[in-house]
This record gives sequence, structure tokens and C-alpha cells, in this order.
Amino acid sequence: MTQIHSKAAPVSFRNVTKIYGTDVVAVDDISLEIEAGKLVTLLGPSGCGKTTTLRMIAGLEMATSGQILIGGKDVTTLPATDRDVSMVFQSYALFPHMTVLENVSYGLGFSGFAKAETKDRANAGLKLVGLEGFGNRLPSELSGGQQQRVAVARALVLEPQVLLFDEPLSNLDAKLRRQVREDIREIQQNLGLSVVYVTHDQEEALAVSDEIVVMRNASIAQIGSPRDLYDEPADRFVADFIGEANLLPCKITSVEGDMAEISLGDYRHKLPARGLPVGDATLAVRPTRLLVGSESGFPAKVMKATYVGSRMEYTLETEFASIFAIQDDVDTPLEIGQEITVGLAPIGPVLLPSG
Ligand code: ADP
Ligand code: MG
Repeated sequence: MTQIHSKAAPVSFRNVTKIYGTDVVAVDDISLEIEAGKLVTLLGPSGCGKTTTLRMIAGLEMATSGQILIGGKDVTTLPATDRDVSMVFQSYALFPHMTVLENVSYGLGFSGFAKAETKDRANAGLKLVGLEGFGNRLPSELSGGQQQRVAVARALVLEPQVLLFDEPLSNLDAKLRRQVREDIREIQQNLGLSVVYVTHDQEEALAVSDEIVVMRNASIAQIGSPRDLYDEPADRFVADFIGEANLLPCKITSVEGDMAEISLGDYRHKLPARGLPVGDATLAVRPTRLLVGSESGFPAKVMKATYVGSRMEYTLETEFASIFAIQDDVDTPLEIGQEITVGLAPIGPVLLPSG
């Protein structure tokens, strides 16, 4: 068990709705439990209501209806200043004319600490994010990743019950993104912080989260661990949004107990029914879960074959769909035009409702 920071608190949303003006429903009746000491990510396409949800936790937006609790206490109508929550923005919002130490001390000045204690706490904060000794620099004398860590330190020293991140990596170049997301995750785990993290990037969400809340059109599409969402997506939207998936039309021909038999063209396959009845369904298969060149399966023709160094990528034509497959074998690649049989891996393919 990782430790939980003494101030880390759970967050609950109970039927929370946010309407801007008279008719922009940004968040539509969402209910959600965020455990203390966990990193929970709100993931979804632009405009689905992630930032609004985060700002309602901070008290920067007020819910139109419903209830928000932090640490079991109803904060629904409390202003931001009366909530014990800190937010790290994508723009860092550091003061350019202040030193790193002054930036980190800034919020503490309002908390009524003596000067010496403020300085000690700020230095401790810099140490937590690995920037000990950088206190006298100006933000412009730091890299983008270091500036982001200063912003994290500034939020951390306030010892919030919940720490909020809104797309914290979007101003960093691709190389730094991986490093900074690992830094944030490490600090969160070492300190046992409650973190709510917003991103539209599924890979980032899979990498940093204990739990992911997938949002679509102001609602929650699915909540689960990265593995749950990847292996057991609830619907086509989640299957397609989290990782790549081939969505193949199939027929459930029979259901026995928990297992369904499906037909894909002439090919028959058995897999968990997931509560679906006999009739039309969708089979979601990750590109790595196809057995290209297997003994049993359905016929396919290689349309494209691309060598990308660590693996081969194939586009295959079948009687029911065009499918995308990834294979580790780069030494004996298939040739364009080749006729092959494609099977389904025993683990991975999942049934979803049709349509
Ligand atoms: P996300 O962070 O997922 O991109 P937002 O929460 O920012 O989504 O926005 C959700 C919806 O609410 C969008 O349709 C957006 O245009 C709208 N919206 C956000 N903020 C405001 C605002 N201050 N006034 C009116 N509409 C807003
Ligand atoms: Mg946003």
C-alpha cells in the first residue's frame, strides 16, 4: 500500500449539472467518487466538459444543480477561497519577475505564515519536485519542464486536500511530456496526494492514472482502471477513443451461460457474451490481438504492409471490413496481395452492442 497524505481527501459528485447561460449544458448529471490518495483522470475529446468539472471542484465554477463533497463535507456553494484545493494550469502562470522561491512562496504569504516558515516551506516544496537549489533563478532561466515543476511546487506547498491539473503537458514538447508526466505521477504517489488530472490524450491518461473517467458530450461514458478501459470497453466510443480498435460487425448466434458464439462471415468464435443477446453485435479487436496467418479464422487479403522498425503494420481486406493489424514478426513479412487466414487471439477481442 502506498501512503496517503494526511490532508488528501476524497471527492464526490452527486448528480452534478452545470449549465452556462441558459442552454449550454457543459456537465450533465454526473455522479463520481474519487478516492483519497489516487490519481484520477478526466479523459475525453475537446468540449466534453472536463475543465468545467475540474473548475467545479476548485470552486471556480458553481454547479447549477447537484452536490459536490470534498473530504465528506458539502462544498457545493463554497467559494474557491474557502476550499482547500490547488490547481496547476497548462500555462503554469508563473510570475516572470519573481524568483522561483518567490513564486513558490506566493500563495503561502496569504496563509499567514511567518517569513522564515514561508521560506522553509517553499524550499521544502522545491525539494519535493527535485528543484533544490533553483530558488534564486528566474522562471526564464528554467526549461519548460522545470517551470512546470515550479508550478507543481507552488500548488503543493499549500498542502491541498485535492490537487488539480488541467492539461499540464500541453505547453511542453513531445520529449519532455513523457518525463514531466512521470514526474507528476511519482510526486503524487510518493506523497499520497489526491489528484484530479484532465487530458484529451489517451496515452497520457493510460500512463499516469489509477482510474480514468472517460467523458463524452457532458456525460460519463465509462469509469475504470486503465486496464479495464483498454480490455473491457463499454461501448464503441470508449473502444475507439482508448487505443486503436477494429470494430467488426458480427452476429451472436447463440448464448450459453456467460459465453456467446459469434459468426464473422463463415468463421465461428466463442467469447464472453457480456450480457448481450442473440443478434447483431460489434466485435472490438485491438490490432495486436489478430493472429495473422493462423490455421483457423477468416480469409483476408494483404492490401498494405508497412515496416515501422519494431513491428509490421498491415491493412487487410476481408469480406466484412477492412482491418488493421500489428505483428511483431518483422523478419518474414507478408507480401501485398497475399491471401491469408486471420484468427482472433484468445484474450483481447470483446463484444460490444451493435451500431
Ligand atoms: P473541455 O475542457 O472538455 O474541452 P469545457 O469544460 O471547457 O470542455 O467546455 C464544455 C462546454 O462548455 C463546451 O461546449 C464549452 O464551449 C462550454 N463552455 C465552457 N466554458 C464556458 C463559459 N464560461 N461560458 C459558456 N460556455 C462555456
Ligand atoms: Mg479543457
